[in-house]
Amino acid sequence: MNDPYVTSVAQLKKIAEILKLPADVVERLSVHDKFLEVHFPVTMDNGAVRMFTGYRAQHSNARGPYKGGIRFSPFVNQSEIRALSMWMTWKCSIADIPFGGGKGGVIVDTKQCSSAELEGISRAYIRAIHAIVGPDKDVPAPDMYTTPEMMGWMADEYAKIVGEYTPAMITAKPIEKGGIEGRTEATGLGGFYVLQNLAERERLDPKQTKVAVQGIGNVGYYIARYAHDAGYRVIAIADSRHAIKNDQGIDIDTAVEFKKSHGSFEGMPGATVISNNELLALPVDVLIPAATENVITSENAETIRAKYILEMANGPVTDEADAVLEREGVVVIPDVLANSGGVTVSYFEWYQNMHREQWTKEKTFSELKKKIDSAFDAIYSYKKENSVSFRMAAYAVGVSKVVEALKNNS
Ligand code: GLU
Repeated sequence: MNDPYVTSVAQLKKIAEILKLPADVVERLSVHDKFLEVHFPVTMDNGAVRMFTGYRAQHSNARGPYKGGIRFSPFVNQSEIRALSMWMTWKCSIADIPFGGGKGGVIVDTKQCSSAELEGISRAYIRAIHAIVGPDKDVPAPDMYTTPEMMGWMADEYAKIVGEYTPAMITAKPIEKGGIEGRTEATGLGGFYVLQNLAERERLDPKQTKVAVQGIGNVGYYIARYAHDAGYRVIAIADSRHAIKNDQGIDIDTAVEFKKSHGSFEGMPGATVISNNELLALPVDVLIPAATENVITSENAETIRAKYILEMANGPVTDEADAVLEREGVVVIPDVLANSGGVTVSYFEWYQNMHREQWTKEKTFSELKKKIDSAFDAIYSYKKENSVSFRMAAYAVGVSKVVEALKNNS
């Protein structure tokens, strides 16, 4: 059984050995500063009142306010939220933004809810956790199945509670509510900048580089499109039901348009339908899991034929699979670097709100590129100098800065 929190602590312990961290530091970072569980009522469209369960984990604020998304999913559980919040601590440190790690979630299947019900849940959740969030305390954002619109409802509800509009309490808001231009593209674009750095260092010619992307949501769509536009051969893409493949390359916008008008990728001219598992096993140069966690496991790790895996989802490769891939020489560029573009632009939004500024998309993208380039450089150099995996190098860079910030802080 893959328990995400157990995995996150095991990873920390591995890093602690490499960095020779004292036991008390490991003990401190293995637990969360705070973990809140809330239960709240919401009136549904049929007039019935339903109880919901939500969480907010605050792992560490050694480097700044807690930061991290809120996911709405029927599978949300304590272990997952704890692990994800610890990973946010490392991610913010790697991205070199002044935040710690947090994560939240509500157990709900958004597909079964109307917009009015989702609004009710968003508002009730923020009422339930409002005392522990705020611009200098904990700054949430979207994650799986949550949207800018929901962030807008939460910002609005928070404003009612505290009596003043406080846009910096949450990020990835709609533009008219203090959001930043470019946040929608940010995670995918950040991943594309990581891919560009990788191609440069490993001498990959984009035109000869075959890419497969699993997931065509916000993250998968943008990385696939930026890669395609830059000349990479994106030969396969997938939504949760079907994958399609064309060895000559897929035009992403045409495929997405086709899906919109036909309801699925099935029957798209010039493309063969394959299963999601077949997509993962394609002999591509770069495999990009951009959908959900735990898609590459001990069950299918041996079937992977990609040279590189760029983790755009959080935790798409399990710990056991990671060991198999390492043995097989598959290079995994970890989520904490690969998808850090999202939280980096969240930081820019928070900064913009705190300083009453309005950034242009150009400025946002060029600042994002600088952050990604320097994070990549630091991790790549560490990896080369210490002959460790990309993941271990990323964690070493991230964890050591948090440990530094914890000094004299007891
Ligand atoms: N949920 C995203 C992540 O896992 C973004 C978090 C944020 O913007 O705070 O990185």
